[in-house]
Amino acid sequence: PDVPTLTMNDGRTIPQLGFGVFQIPQDETETAVTTALEAGYRLIDTAQGYQNEEGVGAALAASDVAREDVFITTKLTNSEQGYDATLKAFDASMEKLRLDVLDLFLIHWPLPMFDLYTDTWKAFVRLQEEGRITSIGVSNFEVEHFEKLAAETGVVPAVNQIELHPQFPQHELRAYHAEHGILTESWGPIGQGKGLLENPHIQAVATKTGKTPAQVVLRWHLQLGLVVIPKSVTPSRIVENIEVFDFTLDDEDLAAIAQVDEGTRLGPDPRTFDRR
Ligand code: NAD
Repeated sequence: PDVPTLTMNDGRTIPQLGFGVFQIPQDETETAVTTALEAGYRLIDTAQGYQNEEGVGAALAASDVAREDVFITTKLTNSEQGYDATLKAFDASMEKLRLDVLDLFLIHWPLPMFDLYTDTWKAFVRLQEEGRITSIGVSNFEVEHFEKLAAETGVVPAVNQIELHPQFPQHELRAYHAEHGILTESWGPIGQGKGLLENPHIQAVATKTGKTPAQVVLRWHLQLGLVVIPKSVTPSRIVENIEVFDFTLDDEDLAAIAQVDEGTRLGPDPRTFDRR
């Protein structure tokens, strides 16, 4: 399938659906990413903290897909925040990924209690100015973190990658992003295997549309204009998760999915998360 792209505030485009590799062990990552590339994925989402960038790099090096046709995201790990540490950690990632230029670099978590994300962001801006990263963004940022970046650097992130799925649809943060030209990217999009896909409302829409629960939820993200990065190591599911461009959810389906909203996270709260 041809995956559509969205345009970021720096004028660059990003595929609207990609492949996430969180919790895929290093020795399984090359195979999983190869399967994803063969299935048509052109965005790979990794992180320094996932400890599998080398597997991503190996899959890219072995693939027939041209470098300019893939979009690679990685994230600065929490322990390396700060101006100098960021520059050094970025170089290490590029070696593991075997890349000259990175498509998107994200600050993984704001860690407001350490107050280093502004200095970190200044290093991101420098790397972008030097042409080593095409687009720069953040992850798990809340409104107050954006306000601080804007006040101290004036550079608005292209993307905020946040926990987002029908159980936690992030209405307020999405509105803030829309107002400020920040693209929303959903992590944990199909609920991380923690029960979302068994929800009766999701199941009912799946039955009605003749699609799987995962496909219904992924389609919901697409119709909301989000970038979505589901993860799987199972080849049939990797294919299933990209077969979401041949149907549409109607208003009744969207209303059913809206009932799943519990306003509760599956993961940590970015305001208090302090692990590094
Ligand atoms: P996800 O919502 O993509 O769920 C993945 C799990 O869902 C799989 O392990 C499997 O158990 C199940 N699954 C996958 N396909 C399925 C299918 N078709 N049918 C039934 N079950 C299926 O969760 P995730 O991996 O946490 O999130 C996706 C990506 O987002 C990650 O791989 C990572 O790249 C990114 N992420 C980022 C952050 C962050 O802090 N920025 C945090 C978590 C994840």
